[in-house]
Amino acid sequence: MDYRGRFAPSPTGRLHFGSLVAALGSWLRARHAGGQWLLRMEDIDPPREVPGAAAAILAALPAFGFTADEPVLYQSQRLAAYDDAFARLRGAGAVFPCWCSRSELLAGAGLHRDGRCVAAPDPRREPAWRLRAPDVGIAFHDALQGPQRQNLRESVGDFVIRRVEGLYSYQLACVVDDAHQGVTEVVRGCDLLDSTPRQIWLQRLLGLPTPRYLHLPLALDCAGHKLSKSEQACPVDPADPLPALRRALAFLGQPAPGDAADAPALLAAALARFDPALIPKRSGCFAG
Ligand code: GLU
Repeated sequence: MDYRGRFAPSPTGRLHFGSLVAALGSWLRARHAGGQWLLRMEDIDPPREVPGAAAAILAALPAFGFTADEPVLYQSQRLAAYDDAFARLRGAGAVFPCWCSRSELLAGAGLHRDGRCVAAPDPRREPAWRLRAPDVGIAFHDALQGPQRQNLRESVGDFVIRRVEGLYSYQLACVVDDAHQGVTEVVRGCDLLDSTPRQIWLQRLLGLPTPRYLHLPLALDCAGHKLSKSEQACPVDPADPLPALRRALAFLGQPAPGDAADAPALLAAALARFDPALIPKRSGCFAG
């Protein structure tokens, strides 16, 4: 099957160095395979959305030389597909409504592992909907991080796929849309490595294919925290793309040719020399 990769930012702030690394890593991998590179705007969480961020991210990407092969997929327009997936999970008895409060969960070490709600149903309140976590090890091979295995029941517990407000979770939307977009390999930051077993389990329940995965090192500040859009850490300047692109290439262990005139030229030169074996596994301090 032809390679299809994607970059899937959330509009919680402007493009920053960490998301530039994810865009670059996914783009290099897709172009190196002679494949397609797609964009998805993960705008399904209005309370966390920053007005104008989606447009700012989409305007910045071409300035860095990244253009998608298909129109952007907006998750805010995909609610019918998530409703359908949710109805199928519900029909299969894989989910249950849950009124448990945070304090009830904390009493159980913060994880919900009962496979059913232990609180009394409260007709005055909407429930969250949880997926029953299976007591099996979910294994996959990450193209950079190597073999992975996680028991969902032990590590995650019954997880929310539809929130009290009726919003669908990232896990459900991501799985439905990776399949819808025909993604064959997911390249993203290592902070999502431990979401992958949940996503693989959802793929199995929904009868969707499991793509390959490659989790990139994370750019950390020197205190060891993820550079996060929502904290407005290290925005990158689309008006002056070359310095940030060079730093992102260096962060991924790739040679950054010195003489490129503009972002597309730098990307083309980097692509010609792209070597995935040079990408460091470990997240690293990024001071800049
Ligand atoms: N929207 C997520 C983020 O911006 C990335 C999701 C993914 O790549 O699966 O962190």
